[in-house]
Amino acid sequence: TEEILRKAEKLSLVGELAAGIAHEIRNPLTTIKGFVQLLRKSHEETKLLYADTILEEIDRINFIVSEFMVFARPHANYYTECNVCDILHSVINLLEAEAALKDVILMREIPQKSSMIRGEKNQLKQVFLNIIKNGIEALPHGGHIKIHVHDYQSELVISIQDNGIGMSKDQIKKLGEPFYTTKPYGNGLGLMVSYKIIQNHHGNISVKSEKNQGTLFQLSFPLIDSRSS
Ligand code: ADP
Ligand code: MG
Repeated sequence: TEEILRKAEKLSLVGELAAGIAHEIRNPLTTIKGFVQLLRKSHEETKLLYADTILEEIDRINFIVSEFMVFARPHANYYTECNVCDILHSVINLLEAEAALKDVILMREIPQKSSMIRGEKNQLKQVFLNIIKNGIEALPHGGHIKIHVHDYQSELVISIQDNGIGMSKDQIKKLGEPFYTTKPYGNGLGLMVSYKIIQNHHGNISVKSEKNQGTLFQLSFPLIDSRSS
């Protein structure tokens, strides 16, 4: 009976998820439909404007669908040796402009040497991007985000710490739930997808946070043993 209960629980989770996805996709579809109707009756100049809105909404649908692909293809088909320090630098470079605009300083405490793990580079990029972006969004009046990397035994540990708005215990519990967001334009998919990617990579993630103090995300991944490779 326990098995049956577990299955029922799983199914209801799938149902909730499906309802969430349907909702997220139906919103942009409704917008697209409206603008296509407008397009049919509008002048040349306004047509361009409407077309841009339609393209943006199509991108949104594409994004949501591709976020869920990490669940559809969880296996390590495209794993290679990845240098996490290089990946972190490229993600930080990408976010530098947005951070500066918001008075956020990105502090790199990343060693010179290479730290190799097995993984899919683009997925790892996505994880770091999601978490550092959340840090920037947690600093509405500016502040700093420390990105620190060190080895601990056979693990590579990456700490991402902001001194932003922080979270209550109840908020922390909800992290990783699909569609959980406290932001007006958030989608609440970033951490769910990141947790799944980290799990696929045999990694770990932990969170420490305090309201109005800041948040620390600590990630770890098994290092490639330099003696065996
Ligand atoms: P989104 O960013 O679209 O809201 P995420 O899954 O990335 O979705 O994050 C979910 C929620 O977790 C955020 O809306 C926010 O409430 C909380 N959160 C995540 N990272 C932080 C952080 N560094 N500081 C404070 N809150 C955070
Ligand atoms: Mg996010």
